[in-house]
Amino acid sequence: MSGRAYRRALVTGGAGFVGSHLCRRLLGAGAEVVCLDNLATGSRSNLAGLRAESGFRFVRGDATDPAAWRALPGRFDLVLHFACPASPADYLRLPLETLAVGSDGTRHALERARRDDARFVLASTSEVYGDPLEHPQTETYWGNVNPVGPRSVYDESKRFAEALVTAHRGVRGTDAAIVRIFNTYGPRMRAGDGRAVPTFIAQALDGAPLTVAGDGSQTRSLCYVDDTVDGVLALAASDEPGPVNVGGGEEITMLGLARRIVDLTGSASRIRFVERPADDPTRRRPDTRLARERLGWQPRVGWSEGLERTIDWFTRSAAA
Ligand code: NAD
Repeated sequence: MSGRAYRRALVTGGAGFVGSHLCRRLLGAGAEVVCLDNLATGSRSNLAGLRAESGFRFVRGDATDPAAWRALPGRFDLVLHFACPASPADYLRLPLETLAVGSDGTRHALERARRDDARFVLASTSEVYGDPLEHPQTETYWGNVNPVGPRSVYDESKRFAEALVTAHRGVRGTDAAIVRIFNTYGPRMRAGDGRAVPTFIAQALDGAPLTVAGDGSQTRSLCYVDDTVDGVLALAASDEPGPVNVGGGEEITMLGLARRIVDLTGSASRIRFVERPADDPTRRRPDTRLARERLGWQPRVGWSEGLERTIDWFTRSAAA
């Protein structure tokens, strides 16, 4: 760990769920922050309160568009490339855009980081492991991805982006790193984005049935967004190239998650089983030894506490 501090950061995708938390945290640490976002899946409301801050600037633009990059003023010492549709509903609606932001978008972001001599971090994903045949997943596992399946636009976009980062680092010496983020949840997820936590919470708060895919025995390891942000920033502050897994250590079945949310909300909702999407991974749990040993990172927020905070946010947003 080198413990570097940054003065001027660029967050692509900063108007999205994870990106908006990153922007806030960086501003809180005293950095100036520029957010480049085309609002494809993010929103201005995620930046509420930030836009009035003198150290923050929102630039509406597409990370795949060279003109958007040229229009970004000044020099950055940190580039966090988080722009990309991330929920299955979004990337299935935006398949070509998802591939473009992983390829062209990552290339532009790397070139800017190289030009500015900035540290660069790519938001990659546990989806690079596909439907994993090894469990838990270590960073040395190559994955089990269907390159022409419905999820491939996202999985292969991120796998290509990882290859691009690795090549840039090798050929151009760009100070670039890869973080593989596992399922993250928390405030500012969209109720309709199709991901399990916001979907179940919204259904429970509405008294509607919680729609569990398949028999609900498939697992995920959930990580509260504050922990994910800690992991990303620990990697940014280090000299590590990654890839480094950042994710929750506790595996939970989707049925168990739905039941927990029904309990925590005190909802009368029932569970309804629906068809499971093609290529939906069966098991997911990160091996986070590398993050612990190299970055001193481990998740701190247990999922009961994290879910309570998230439910509280959804309840308050619905009332606002
Ligand atoms: P999100 O959809 O809330 O945020 C993505 C943001 O990127 C949005 O604000 C969107 O408008 C913006 N964007 C998309 N395409 C763009 C483009 N071409 N140019 C500029 N902006 C663009 O998703 P999220 O959950 O916050 O995910 C953020 C990043 O973290 C993504 O790269 C995602 O792959 C990665 N990630 C997230 C998770 C998770 O559980 N949330 C897990 C693994 C990886």
